[in-house]
Amino acid sequence: MLNSHLCSIFEYLEAKLLQIFKTFTDLREQLDSGQGSVGFVPTMGALHEGHVSLVRRAAAENTRVVVSIFVNPTQFNDPADLEKYPRNLEQDLQILESLGSQLFVVCPAVSELYGDRLESKIYDLAHLSEVMEGAMRPGHYQGVATVVEKLLKEVRPDQAYFGEKDFQQFKVIERLVALESIDVRLVQCPIAREHHGLARSSRNELLSPQARRDAGVIYAVLQQIKKDYQAGDYSYPFLKSKGIRELSKIPNSRVEYFILADEESLEEIESLGDSTKVRAFVAVQLEKIRLIDTLNYQE
Ligand code: AMP
Repeated sequence: MLNSHLCSIFEYLEAKLLQIFKTFTDLREQLDSGQGSVGFVPTMGALHEGHVSLVRRAAAENTRVVVSIFVNPTQFNDPADLEKYPRNLEQDLQILESLGSQLFVVCPAVSELYGDRLESKIYDLAHLSEVMEGAMRPGHYQGVATVVEKLLKEVRPDQAYFGEKDFQQFKVIERLVALESIDVRLVQCPIAREHHGLARSSRNELLSPQARRDAGVIYAVLQQIKKDYQAGDYSYPFLKSKGIRELSKIPNSRVEYFILADEESLEEIESLGDSTKVRAFVAVQLEKIRLIDTLNYQE
C-alpha cells in the first residue's frame, strides 16, 4: 500500500519535471506567475549530449530553465537540408525528462513566430555574414538572428546558453543583442564530443556508421595543426594547406574551409604573429552532410 502510494507520488513528481508548452502565450503566463532567474536554451531538437550540457549548466545557474525546440526554416539556405533535418520530439522529451530538473519546454508552431511572413529580418551583421558559414550559407545568419531575436523577446531570459561549436553564430548573437539592445547575458558552453572526438551534432545521425567513425579525423586534424601552430616552426600558408590536405583524406569528404582567424574579428590571419587570440575553424562535407568544428589555438 505504502509502496504504491510512494510510486504514485514519484510518478506525479516526475510528470511535473517537464512542463510542455505549445505556445509562447502559455509559457509567458507560467513564467509571469513565478519568480527567480530564467535560463534559456534554444535548440532545433534532435537533442544530444551537447544540448544536454547546455541544459545542465542553465539548470545549475538559474531558478527556472526554458528549452525551446524549433526547427527554424529561415536559417536553412538549402530546402533539402531543412527537409532532412532530424526531428524526434518524443525522444527529445525523454532525454530532457531524464535530466531530473524541472524544465519548461516550448515547441512553438512556425506560424506563432512568423505569422504569414516566413522571412528573415535584415540586420547589419557586417563581416560576420560574409566569412566562413556566412559565405558558405547565404542568408543563414540573418535567419538565425531573426529567430533568436523573436525567441529572446518571447522568453525574456536573464541568461541564454549557446555552444562554442557554433562560435561564429555566438558572435552573430552577441552583435544582435547589442544592435537590438536586448537585456540578456549570453553564456558560451564548451563543445561536447563523441568518444573519438567528433563534435556532437544533430546532423551526425545522418552519417553512415563508417563516415561517423571517419569524421573523428576532423578533431584530430584540428589538434595536430594546433601543435604545429604552437611549435611556431611553420608559416600560416603551410599550416592551412596541411590542414586541408589531411581533411581531404577522409573518404567521401569535401573540405569547405579550414582557416585560422582572430577570435574577436573572425578575420583570417595572414601570418602567425597576426593575432594573440587565434582559433581554427573548419567545415567539411561528409556524404553531403555539413560538419563544422572549431578549436582555440591560444590555450
Ligand atoms: P542546434 O539545435 O544545433 O541549433 O543547437 C542548439 C544549441 O546547442 C546551440 O547553441 C549550439 O551551439 C549548441 N550545441 C550544438 N552542438 C553542441 C555541442 N557538440 N556541444 C555544445 N553545444 C552544442
